[in-house]
Amino acid sequence: MSARILVVDDVPANVKLLEARLSAEYFDVMTASNGTEALVLARRAECDIILLDVMMPDMDGFEVCRRLKTDPATHHIPVVMVTALDSPSDRNRGLEAGADDFLTKPVSDVVLIARVRSLTRLKMMTDELRMRAITSLEIGMQAPERTAVADTGKGGRILLVDDRESSYERLATILAAEHTVDVEPNPTEALFHAAEGNYDLLIVSLDLNNFDGLRLCSQARSLERTRHVPILAIAEAENSTRLLRGLEIGVNDYLLRPIDKTELLARARTQIRRRRYTDHLRDNVQNSIEMAITDALTGLHNRRYMESHLATLAEQASTRGKPLALMILDIDYFKSINDNYGHDAGDDVLREFAVRVRKSIRGIDLACRYGGEEFVIVMPETDLHVAGMVAERLRRSIAGEPFAVHKGTKRIEVTISIGLTTLEQKGEAVADVLKRADTALYRAKHDGRNRVVSQAA
Ligand code: GH3
Ligand code: MG
Ligand code: MG
Repeated sequence: MSARILVVDDVPANVKLLEARLSAEYFDVMTASNGTEALVLARRAECDIILLDVMMPDMDGFEVCRRLKTDPATHHIPVVMVTALDSPSDRNRGLEAGADDFLTKPVSDVVLIARVRSLTRLKMMTDELRMRAITSLEIGMQAPERTAVADTGKGGRILLVDDRESSYERLATILAAEHTVDVEPNPTEALFHAAEGNYDLLIVSLDLNNFDGLRLCSQARSLERTRHVPILAIAEAENSTRLLRGLEIGVNDYLLRPIDKTELLARARTQIRRRRYTDHLRDNVQNSIEMAITDALTGLHNRRYMESHLATLAEQASTRGKPLALMILDIDYFKSINDNYGHDAGDDVLREFAVRVRKSIRGIDLACRYGGEEFVIVMPETDLHVAGMVAERLRRSIAGEPFAVHKGTKRIEVTISIGLTTLEQKGEAVADVLKRADTALYRAKHDGRNRVVSQAA
């Protein structure tokens, strides 16, 4: 896990110090000495995490952070503010500007490495989801980036696990100004409660009576229903071994008592925003799989997916020097099936047709519904001769067994015509391949239907 960290500080000695510590832990380090430079590097997507000094001439760290966090190109990069003073107002300004975390100078090694590691993990997960979301966008799905930028992090559902009444009453009152809060004073009930409640954030006290708060955190991480819920730990005093352990097992952030009101609200908002962001992405991925690429009637891939994926398959075939076969299948006289038996019967035929297609092809073949009663099958690593045999088998599987319609009360004869061709090896445009297959299909229709016509490239 070699993440690239951008260290931004106007004092060269500070840059050198952080660079040395991070390099010793095998992080890649790049540096910038002012805000403008940092924004340029970040926009080029060259770093995974940014360590940002607050006090810099020209543009201070707060302003740099604000710009990073409002630009859709950079807002997902975790920002850690490095503050010179241990001043709550600086922390709060940083968090308000959208910083994901902060470190206080002089920076403790343990805390530095722990925070950078935990943010690296988060960043890698988000990157993965973003990449998939971009693919979804390419095939016409909405990407959630804009919603995530606009999200304030308010109105979340929080479960607070704390067994001291004076403590949880105060915390719950503060949080209730922006969120819905449930309190669970019994740690043995907390996991169950968390799994049932669909929460955006768990806040766990690490100073529970006769109960190890870290164990609860670790259990929440391994349970399917709570593993994606962020955890904010609350500790009595800086105990770096325990906090480090917490960050390692998946605690997202922590606060030390006595708890500052603004800091609590800001950190809760940051975690909730993060949670919503990854949720959006996850939903988007699921939607893209279930809806955007699938034809609802037949369950085959749709045309949009085929067109975006065919280009990739063609490129692969060209670079690897392997053949790629493509066929267009069209049901014969389908209009008359609709006319004679009704549109529902036509739909039954299309569904059953898809079932038979799936049975006749391999897992790596790509089958899609190209239009109403027109289908395309793409077969990687298949030459014209072999593809011709597959096409013929497919033709027979349709013509050889009548199709049941109207809940099996009627059976009708169906035939198909197939136009078949292969990709030329020299990076031929996929549109030309489709056109050649279509010409072959036209010939199959013209020559009497219920047949396969192959057209060499
Ligand atoms: P050919 O042998 O030349 O292909 O004749 P055909 O009747 O199959 O071709 P044509 O293109 O004239 O008609 C296709 C018909 O498919 C027209 C359209 O109403 C019907 N169709 C398209 N999509 C659907 C669908 O989702 N369900 C049903 N039931 N019919 C559809
Ligand atoms: Mg037809
Ligand atoms: Mg047609």
